[in-house]
Amino acid sequence: MRFSKKLVVPPGTKVNLADWDPDETFGFKKGAQVERLIAKTIARLDDLQNLLWASKQRALLVVLQSPDAGGKDGTIRHVMSGMSPQGCRVTAFKVPTPEELRHDFLWRVHSVVPAKGEVGIFNRSHYEDVLVVRVRDLVPRGVWSKRYDEINNFERLLAENSVTVLKFFLHISKDEQKERFAERIKDRTKQWKLEKSDLEDRERWGEYVEAYEEALGRCNTAEAPWFIIPANKKWFRNLAVSSILVEAMEGMKLTFPKPSFDLSRVHLK
Ligand code: AMP
Ligand code: MG
Repeated sequence: MRFSKKLVVPPGTKVNLADWDPDETFGFKKGAQVERLIAKTIARLDDLQNLLWASKQRALLVVLQSPDAGGKDGTIRHVMSGMSPQGCRVTAFKVPTPEELRHDFLWRVHSVVPAKGEVGIFNRSHYEDVLVVRVRDLVPRGVWSKRYDEINNFERLLAENSVTVLKFFLHISKDEQKERFAERIKDRTKQWKLEKSDLEDRERWGEYVEAYEEALGRCNTAEAPWFIIPANKKWFRNLAVSSILVEAMEGMKLTFPKPSFDLSRVHLK
């Protein structure tokens, strides 16, 4: 199955998240067979990242967005497990610093876009500037409403400069978030992950859904597509994200560089 075809948001369509089932697994079942498939996909990702790094022909930018407890950290841990840390950088976007706020919203983002040869993973991203910022009224509507076009222009600039941009929305249900929050409250090793603002944001679930639907619909282009990943089941989420990355990197048609000198003349002693 081509995961990218099944899970991509068709360009130009309005997004209604109620149409996307967060429990979908397309017939895959948890178990040894799927575990083997995931391991194979991760191994392939390792090879492809090595090729990306060697060829220096393109960059790969992976954007991860989700509600709190949607699985961004888990996805990163999983996907990265098949990559060399050399040439791979994760950036987590938090509440902007005073310095960041003195710049335009894309300033902090543009500065950490991966260079050719590199993979960049964004844990949250410039999309927060039309999500939390919109829901919590952090800037006037007149400011955030212009950002959809600004984001499209920015992502087009990246695409025209050899950056493959893939955006993943990890789609969990409100019930699944409740279970994961409850687990965080219960488990001493997970309590640090829960913040007061997470609970406040849960109260605004509906407003976030609206904000996500608008961002996923309006900032979805052929050069920087959104994928909606059914993410209630962590194993399926991992399979889907890693498979889409493999499909995208295979599509880059990368080649190893030619040797820098005539190897047939080398006689090792
Ligand atoms: P976490 O990802 O759980 O470490 O939390 C990071 C927090 O930073 C989240 O609550 C985000 O909503 C918040 N955040 C990220 N980017 C922005 C932004 N541009 N403006 C306001 N808050 C943001
Ligand atoms: Mg949080």
